[in-house]
Amino acid sequence: MKLSSFGCLAVLPLSLSLTAATPAAEPNANAQAYATQSNPETLVLDARDAGRGLMTATMRIPVKPGPFTFVYPEWTPGEHGPTGPLSDLSQLKVSANGRALDWRRDQVDMYAFHVDVPQGIDTLDVEFTILVNSPDRMSTSNVAIINWNRTLFYQADANSHEVYFKPSIILPDGWGYGTALPGPNQVGQRVDFAEVPLNMLVDSPLDCGRYYKHIELWRKGGAYQMLDIFADKPQDLDIPDTLIASYKHLAPEAFALYGSRHWDVYHSLLELSDVIGFQGIEHHQSSDNRAPDDFMTNAQNQLSAGDLLTHEFSHSWNGKYRRPADLTTLNFQIPMQTDLLWVYEGMNQYLGDLLSFRTGIRTPGDYPEYLAALYAGLASEPGRNTEPLIDTTIAAPYLYQAIGSYPSIRRTAGDFYAEGELLWLDADTLIRERTRGRKSLDDFLHLYSAPAVTGPITKTYTREEIEQLLNQVAPYDWHAFFQKRVYEVAPTPPTDELARSGWRLVYTSEPNKFITTREALFHISDMWFSYGFLLGKDDLVADVREGSPAWVAGMAPGMKILAVENQAYTDGALKYIATQAEHSSGPTAFLVQQDSWYHTIEVSYHGGPQYPHLVRIRDQTDMLAKIMAPRAGR
Ligand SMILES: [Zn+2]
Repeated sequence: MKLSSFGCLAVLPLSLSLTAATPAAEPNANAQAYATQSNPETLVLDARDAGRGLMTATMRIPVKPGPFTFVYPEWTPGEHGPTGPLSDLSQLKVSANGRALDWRRDQVDMYAFHVDVPQGIDTLDVEFTILVNSPDRMSTSNVAIINWNRTLFYQADANSHEVYFKPSIILPDGWGYGTALPGPNQVGQRVDFAEVPLNMLVDSPLDCGRYYKHIELWRKGGAYQMLDIFADKPQDLDIPDTLIASYKHLAPEAFALYGSRHWDVYHSLLELSDVIGFQGIEHHQSSDNRAPDDFMTNAQNQLSAGDLLTHEFSHSWNGKYRRPADLTTLNFQIPMQTDLLWVYEGMNQYLGDLLSFRTGIRTPGDYPEYLAALYAGLASEPGRNTEPLIDTTIAAPYLYQAIGSYPSIRRTAGDFYAEGELLWLDADTLIRERTRGRKSLDDFLHLYSAPAVTGPITKTYTREEIEQLLNQVAPYDWHAFFQKRVYEVAPTPPTDELARSGWRLVYTSEPNKFITTREALFHISDMWFSYGFLLGKDDLVADVREGSPAWVAGMAPGMKILAVENQAYTDGALKYIATQAEHSSGPTAFLVQQDSWYHTIEVSYHGGPQYPHLVRIRDQTDMLAKIMAPRAGR
């Protein structure tokens, strides 16, 4: 909160008489759940106005007379933070037997609401309006993403596995839907689902839309994987058959990787819209994937982000079935501890990428180029001099929300994804080396995700168990390995995994395929390894590399680059001038706008454009080709 310079500080009394607020009790999961399988809480979500950003949730909550507290989910699985969007919640009404009841919000825990339930009352009727697109965009006039945690209240301190819901949705006229929720029964626009525990409801998002396509990717008996696509524009559903054929390899490749399955049905929900941001949220029997309009029709998108669906699919095993013990909570008010995200997200970043190459969604031969861009980004982060990787995982709930100024100095949540990939590639190549190619990380994953087939249950793990399972595959001091790479400060990431795979990192003027694709898709300029800055959206400088020529010259995030050497800025002009600067001795002049001031920043740099690549180490086995080769027979 900001106090105005002309505020009322002067009139504050010297001694304030404060009414003591009742301290909120620590959230727990010990309350006896009133909503049971035979007497569930009913939830009817009227989504007919989702197109204009409004929905209504109507609940009938089983209660007992006396003080009763219901809560709005605060901690969101998959988002790894207290992101429950309280600002979505409006027009709250509580009644019983048709009579309005007073409610009051807790003064300390703003996610909790208190009601005094009169004698003789055993259900409360609770209704509220959901402002769907506040704070983030979840619907357009053609598609909507339903995350049930945003649409409900539940009894405070109840165990989410014990409190039952019977959910229903009323869809906009003519819209289709996809979800992993069991027992759908559709009559007209209304779909009723079977009774499910709260944790399963929150774990089963529903996508719906006017233009849609359901594609069966895999089936064996009653088990199947569906791709349910909802597009803002109908032409974006004209997906090439060759791409669908690659996505059909996903389930067989995941079974080969893990040697198991812990879902009965799986829905890869994919919403295509330029208006709704890029996002992927994992669930046990589905995933909530959000991508640009042309994600499935423009091959550049698959090169840049072809791991979106594979990453989320892999999470069904790594993240949902196997989950860090301290991240596993019994309801959505209890804080999660995120230290082991270097396994949950870090290993998954490696496996999601690996599956995107093994399925052929991306070309396996492109992996070295991908890895070069990933490694080089991490190798030039001043934040690494003070923050070990473990600090980025512990601080994840805050780091996911941290945007803006100098991400390379702060370090970001993206670090434990990117560095996690290097870390687990390191472990994979180490296992292959120590077992002379007989074993790999796949063998570890088979132990990690055993037994072969179960329904969607969760088995928790600790760091000790991970180290012990690795030791069963290849005896080694895995504790010291992770201690060095995760828990200690490391100014640059180790290059062991590159050398062991038969590759080394170089910088040349040849563009890196992944970096240039990203530049084209997002209309940005990546001069990180040359002048030393990244130009993001709207030609605004997004970050400046500490110690680089741009840094020395005084460039800063937020500056808008208007012209380079008196020529209006375009990515093409900038690259041309960078090449020309190799043959001149003078600085390159950037005309920048900072707030309402214009400056000329003169950057002395004559090395030309620079991009990272991997080149082969002669006479050494190419382990990357082996790792990315398909494993499921086809
Ligand atoms: Zn993930």
